[in-house]
This record gives sequence, C-alpha cells and structure tokens, in this order.
Amino acid sequence: MSAKIYYDDDADLTLLNGKEIVFLGFGNQGAAQAQNLRDSGIPNDKIIIANREDSYAEDAKAKGFTVEHDFGKAAEIADVLFLLIPDQVQPRVFNEQIAPKLKATATIVIASGYNVFYKLLNFTPKQDVVMVAPRMIGSSVRSLYQKGKGFPCFVSVEQDGTGSGLAIALALSRVIGATKAGAIASSAREETAMDLFAEQALWPNIIMLFREAFSVLKEAGCSDEALCYEMWMSKEPAEIFERAAEDGFIQQLKHHSTVSQFGQLSGALALDGSAARAHFKEILYNQVLNGKFCREFSKIEDDLEKEGAANPLNELYRKSEESELGQAEKRVRARLAGLL
Ligand code: NDP
Repeated sequence: MSAKIYYDDDADLTLLNGKEIVFLGFGNQGAAQAQNLRDSGIPNDKIIIANREDSYAEDAKAKGFTVEHDFGKAAEIADVLFLLIPDQVQPRVFNEQIAPKLKATATIVIASGYNVFYKLLNFTPKQDVVMVAPRMIGSSVRSLYQKGKGFPCFVSVEQDGTGSGLAIALALSRVIGATKAGAIASSAREETAMDLFAEQALWPNIIMLFREAFSVLKEAGCSDEALCYEMWMSKEPAEIFERAAEDGFIQQLKHHSTVSQFGQLSGALALDGSAARAHFKEILYNQVLNGKFCREFSKIEDDLEKEGAANPLNELYRKSEESELGQAEKRVRARLAGLL
C-alpha cells in the first residue's frame, strides 16, 4: 500500500492570504514552526503566539513575535490555530479555554494524532481539523529549514468542515517547510497506531531482550563492564540504526564482519515469529486501537504530577532498575564516572 506524497508544488499559498495564524504554545514545535512560517513569507502581524506569561512567552517576544496571554482573545481572532502544547494538557486547555471562543470555520492544526483519534477534543462541524505532524524534534524542524532542506512529516485531514481542509493543510505544511522533502499522506489513526505500537509493543520487547540477554551472559561469566560496553555503551546499536536509515534495514548488515552477517541473517530466519506476531496483534487491537490504553492512562494521568512513590512513573523506574542490567549499569557508571 503506497501513500500519496505531497510536495511544494501541491500547495497553494494564496489560501493563507489575510489569515490570522495563532500558535498555542511556543515550545519544541511551536517555536520552530512559527519561525519557519514567518521566514516563508507570512507577515509577522498575522502571527500571534498564545502563551502563559513565562520564559516561553519571553522567548517569543525576543524573537519579535506578538504574544497574547489571554487564550480566549487569541482564539477569537484565529483563522488558523496550531495546537502545539503537550498532548496531555490539550483536552483541558482546548476544550475549556479555546473551543468556546474559536470561529465556526477555523482550521485547527494538530501535530500528533492521539487526542483527535481518541476524540478528546471538542470541535464544531464546520471547522477544519488537519494534522501536520513532523517526524522530527523541533530543533531539527528549524535547523533543516534554515539549511534549505525538508524534514519528514505526516499530513491528513481529520475533519473537512469548510471543504478546503486539504488545500489549507498543504499550504500550512509548505510554509513550515514540510513539503520540501515530501509530506506523507497519513491519518490520526495511523500516526497514533504506529506511535503507541512502538511504545507499547516494539520497544518493551527490545528492553526485555536486552534485560534477558544481559542476565544470560552475566551468568556465563561476562563482567558488568564488558556487557554494558558490548551491548549499548559503545553506541554500536545507535550506529546500526543510523546505517539502517542510510543504507537499508537489511543492507546495513554488510558493514559487519562475515561471521556477524552470517550469524544475524541465519539466526533471524530461524526464529519463529508467530508468538511475537500474536502478542503484537493483541497490543495493537486490544490495547491501542480499541482505546483501552487511553482510558486507563487517563485514570492515572493526574498522579504523574506527584512526587515519589505516589507517581506511577517513578515506581516503574524503580522496578525496572531492580533488574540485573539496571543494577550493573549503576555500578559501572559510578566506577567510570569520570570517563563517561
Ligand atoms: P512542548 O512541551 O515543547 O510545549 C511547550 C509549550 O506548551 C510551551 O509554550 C508551554 O508554555 C505550553 N504549555 C505547557 N503546558 C501548558 C498548559 N497547561 N497550558 C498552556 N500552555 C502550556 O511541546 P512539544 O512542542 O513537544 O509538543 C507539541 C505538539 O507537537 C504535541 O502534540 C506533540 O505530540 C507534537 N510533536 C512533538 C514533537 C517533539 O519534537 N517534541 C515531534 C512531533 C510532534 P507554558 O509552560 O509557558 O504555558
């Protein structure tokens, strides 16, 4: 299944003429996207940064933007609203302070699918809801734009209230620099499914494999120091993934020794992936796509602000660090503190 890819030529910038563009949030993505958009020719007096009175607001002012601290006022004038505050605070801030004041035909731009896929934001039917989701951290969104390069990005229309949702999404994608290298047609569902699948299925398995591999090799007499370096502190895994992005997931193996290539390819082909596939499907369908994770996460979300053991995330860190790998790494890091 191939996705459509949109380039600069697919975007009609005249659609943005005269539009008031509000960025809610001037953090990672907000600061980068607002500056790219202005450097693409959107007049500064058509851009407003909505932010509470603090260092983010000061940064926006220092960069020459007009800042509005009253979110209701900013919402009232917005033709386009970039929703670039952290995902976990979006439902409360948007539904309580923005939605009641927003124009009936405003365009709301999201950079992540989560809150839209799980229907946590309240839109009215004539509003456009579009996703322009860079696959890069904000500093790279900015630095690649400044170098005249593009960056990978997903684009979609989640609600086409005005009938011009896609055209506006493409114009906005172009001015933030996202169509230069090609913006991939996607959806909030696809973005959320892939994101949460990686977080809840793929990476937990990778963490588990490293943990178990560590214990087996330690039991066979390998030292903590040798294991930490062999497995990750040498940065070999990071290099492998960098090569995979450049040369191909399989073709990067050619950078390894013949013994290594033979071992990796024959070993992977000999493994029966059916149990992993069943487990992955269970997570995807019965935890991510059916909304189970979202419902359960919303129950503990407020606890994530707490201190100490009352914060579930702290408890997960504590338990994870009890593993042989976690304990050994602490000792190795303490011993090699000056060298790392
Ligand atoms: P940040 O954490 O950098 O956002 C910080 C901004 O949000 C600041 O302006 C901050 O201002 C504001 N903010 C934080 N809390 C609140 C609040 N309770 N009320 C009002 N404003 C608040 O966010 P990101 O840029 O990382 O993420 C924004 C969106 O982009 C998300 O949807 C995210 O998933 C998506 N995204 C992020 C990527 C990344 O690189 N981080 C990559 C791709 C997409 P203040 O604290 O002053 O109120």
